[in-house]
Amino acid sequence: MTPDPANPLRPSVLVVEDEESLATLLQYNLDKEGFAVTVCGDGEEALILIDEKQPDIVILDWMLPSVSGIEVCRRLRQRSETRNLPIIMLTARGEENDRIRGLDTGADDYLVKPFSMVELSARARAVLRRIRPGLAEDQVRRGDIMIDRVAHRVKRGADEVHLGPTEFRLLDYFMQHPGRVFSREQLLNAVWGSDIYVETRTVDVHIGRLRRALKCAPEGDPIRTVRSAGYALDVTG
Ligand code: CA
Repeated sequence: MTPDPANPLRPSVLVVEDEESLATLLQYNLDKEGFAVTVCGDGEEALILIDEKQPDIVILDWMLPSVSGIEVCRRLRQRSETRNLPIIMLTARGEENDRIRGLDTGADDYLVKPFSMVELSARARAVLRRIRPGLAEDQVRRGDIMIDRVAHRVKRGADEVHLGPTEFRLLDYFMQHPGRVFSREQLLNAVWGSDIYVETRTVDVHIGRLRRALKCAPEGDPIRTVRSAGYALDVTG
């Protein structure tokens, strides 16, 4: 996930739609719903943008110039990095056929045009919740750690934990993938963004601060250092 610099905790969405008026409408409404939105109108460009921006979810039109939505979907499912990327397909009435109804395109859900923006954002949130439970919620709990993205508060057990903005983003990222080991480079890309030049040892500095802040609990340090690999958050529940 590449964080939106204005609010790194907004889920990011790539809208791939060649009808400009619909693309604009989707951008406006998804932005209002709290998503960080990128729009493109072409399948080939979509594949490049997905590599670059690593969106949390893709809204993908079926009929597109150059590479079709189905083909984009197929290619994304073939690659391990994007195999589980949530995809909602858009189809015009008449294009809808058994293949998309059965979702054997690999999409997670589909909507038939015209649809309401309320329905679209509800489906997007539902797909996100199913696939990445930590992403679509305001409050996430892992073990004895609770993060509130709206109030920007963190608690460990009953204790309030005070974190700087970078430590907050780091913890939020770990909370989305408990137990998973991330390299310093992966954490840099996810938390600082790939466009910003930061030395990898900066990650160690912020991990250190996060650790000190979280160590208020008798359970001790939830962050595991994996020699020559990186870091993971070990929590249960
Ligand atoms: Ca189209």
